[in-house]
Amino acid sequence: MHSPTNYDNGPNAPDSAQKVSNPSYRRAEFLTSAAKFRQCPPDEGWEVAFAGRSNAGKSSAINSLTGNKKLARTSRTPGRTQLINFFSVGEHQRIVDLPGYGYAKVPQKIKDAWNRQLEAYLRERQSLRGLVMLMDCRHPLQPFDQQMIGWAAQADMPIHLLLTKADKLSKGPAKQTLMQVRGKLAHLGDLVSAQLFSALKHQGHKELIEVLDRWLTDDSVFEEDDPALEE
Ligand code: GDP
Repeated sequence: MHSPTNYDNGPNAPDSAQKVSNPSYRRAEFLTSAAKFRQCPPDEGWEVAFAGRSNAGKSSAINSLTGNKKLARTSRTPGRTQLINFFSVGEHQRIVDLPGYGYAKVPQKIKDAWNRQLEAYLRERQSLRGLVMLMDCRHPLQPFDQQMIGWAAQADMPIHLLLTKADKLSKGPAKQTLMQVRGKLAHLGDLVSAQLFSALKHQGHKELIEVLDRWLTDDSVFEEDDPALEE
């Protein structure tokens, strides 16, 4: 698990004596954009990142979660989606919209550079408590999805899979897809969970919010039993 050392007396360290409140997604506010991970806001508090190949339904999911259609622009301009967008959902709680990947038009060199940054972010970002990965339920676990899951698992980062556009499948096949995806990732144990989601039909909100609330209030980061903290 990511080390809590960065909270140790840091100027922005949340007060560990306070009970952490649940985030308010409906009050989400745009914080900042970064073109590179080194331009991220200070690494404090809690963060959950949303990732998925372009067109997976990421903007629609963030918009429907926050009830704000303008927050994460439903992506039409490829250039725009290359920014990492940070939204505040509480005093020390953030949602991060990672750029859509899988653009055929992006040169391999740029993709490679981006992938290296992404991997480092998953490994090094101390405030990152989990990764929500969005995949069209009709095309789950594409090669790059699997690579991302591999990086996250290596970094011991919990992953929640949103099988999006569930309204495009009828109930039986949707359920079957969910079972298949869970089965394929069973070797990762508790690190991975998965659910069906439809922004269009507002399906799966409650389940998603439960996961986000758990990650964004996880105060185990304040526990002082980490040997790295001991002199
Ligand atoms: P992004 O590139 O991952 O941000 O994907 P978008 O949110 O822009 O969605 C891509 C396309 O899928 C758009 O045409 C959306 O209208 C459509 N879409 C997104 N979510 C849903 C959904 O839940 N159901 C259906 N039927 N279409 C969706």
